[in-house]
Amino acid sequence: MRVTLLGTGSADGWPNPWCDCASCAWAREHEVRGQTAVLVDDTLLIDCGPDVPRTAARLGVRLSGLRHLLISHAHPDHLGPESLMWRSWSSAAGRPLDIVGPPAALAVCREFLTRWEGADPARDGSALRFVPATAGGGSPQDDPLRLGVGDAVYLVRPLAARHGDASIGPAVLYDVTAPDGGRLLYGCDTAAPLPATTLAAVTDRAYDVVLLEENNGDRPGFGEHLDLDSFAELVAELRRRGAVVDGTRVLAVHLSHRNPPGDELARRLALLGAQAPGDGAVLDLTPRAPLPHLQTPAPTAHLAGAAATPPPHRVLITGGARSGKSAEAERRLLAEPAVVYVATSAPPDPADADAEWSARIAAHRARRPAAWTTVETLDLVPLLRSPGPPLLVDGVGLWVAALLDDPTELARRAGELVEAWRHTARRVVAVTDEVGSGVVPSTADGRRFRDALGRLNAELAAASDEVWQVVAGTPVRLRPRTKPSPRAVRTT
Ligand SMILES: [Zn+2]
Ligand SMILES: [Zn+2]
Ligand SMILES: [Zn+2]
Repeated sequence: MRVTLLGTGSADGWPNPWCDCASCAWAREHEVRGQTAVLVDDTLLIDCGPDVPRTAARLGVRLSGLRHLLISHAHPDHLGPESLMWRSWSSAAGRPLDIVGPPAALAVCREFLTRWEGADPARDGSALRFVPATAGGGSPQDDPLRLGVGDAVYLVRPLAARHGDASIGPAVLYDVTAPDGGRLLYGCDTAAPLPATTLAAVTDRAYDVVLLEENNGDRPGFGEHLDLDSFAELVAELRRRGAVVDGTRVLAVHLSHRNPPGDELARRLALLGAQAPGDGAVLDLTPRAPLPHLQTPAPTAHLAGAAATPPPHRVLITGGARSGKSAEAERRLLAEPAVVYVATSAPPDPADADAEWSARIAAHRARRPAAWTTVETLDLVPLLRSPGPPLLVDGVGLWVAALLDDPTELARRAGELVEAWRHTARRVVAVTDEVGSGVVPSTADGRRFRDALGRLNAELAAASDEVWQVVAGTPVRLRPRTKPSPRAVRTT
């Protein structure tokens, strides 16, 4: 299966040509993205907004071999029916073309062509064949659409999206199996969570490539779209279900200026094991054998822990109060199938919890995915010494504060903690507080806290694979100085 990205941008493209925001300025300088569309084997095209044929021409990609056009929904960035008229003026005019899409999308094409070409293109003898795509019940036994003939049959399953309205009807996503067995999931456009039938249908599909929209970046709330966090949580869900496995290429598409500038976006996606190649990128995917368990799903095969154990990796994130350090730590693990969140912040006695404290804890909890386990403890060493899913420790400062009353005990336990951190077999991200850059604390306790935490931070940092400081919501890499690739060390 050969996959060509003919577009990776949002409806308005990135940059939006009318916009002077910082994100558009970066894109204008570095990388222009048009409306999202993907070409498979030069034979099958998914989505065809008005930008797409011109982008193909500029990239030197010919569309004359196209036999199957799949439309996800009738929003105008996914369907420019005029392209079919331009095709009718070309040498490809008489060649057969399947047009697959939800009924509203097919109606848009037929009405446009009838208006401008004077005859309904669905009439007998037309080279165009209109095939309604309606999402099935999600069972792997559902008959896929069979497009093509002989050795060149594509199996296409339309899946329900969380996207669409009364005028365009429900949008669909596409699960495509190429003639060589290559498997692709096209998840664009959709909000999260995906409908249960779709999650059932993608279970154990072990895709070669998953294209997921990520329109909204760090500014959620626009339309029925994914943002960086919901994208990450969806990737985690796909991992839990064996839809995304070792070797699956996870690509973010439908990118807009609601995203951070491209270099920061690339960093954020890499943390999730995803990428955002630009328009014109080509993925040549090695043919793979058809899945033997398509008929008999084996849902436990890909569950967390069943896969090869990833190597340990220690990340320490420091920062001032409200700098965004906790959010940065959480982000790094959002696409993991399972995470143990270790809160060192529990008040020693629940009776001490005041309303403000409880509200903060509740807000923290609400932000974390439902699949995360929360442990409230100061006993970090046993967790670091035992195998299991990644740990997020938040945070080291509160751990020191809780043990401050007994300096001898604190020193002993801090030594143990550093040793356990150094030798842990797990992936672990720990949040700590940056201390000591302001005035000298006025109390003896304050000075002892500053000194103890400052020393512990330095020792943990020395034993870490990565150290970051978050300043005004912006992560700054302290160690290593060269670009790390946290996901690259992960073998699962
Ligand atoms: Zn769209
Ligand atoms: Zn902009
Ligand atoms: Zn849409």
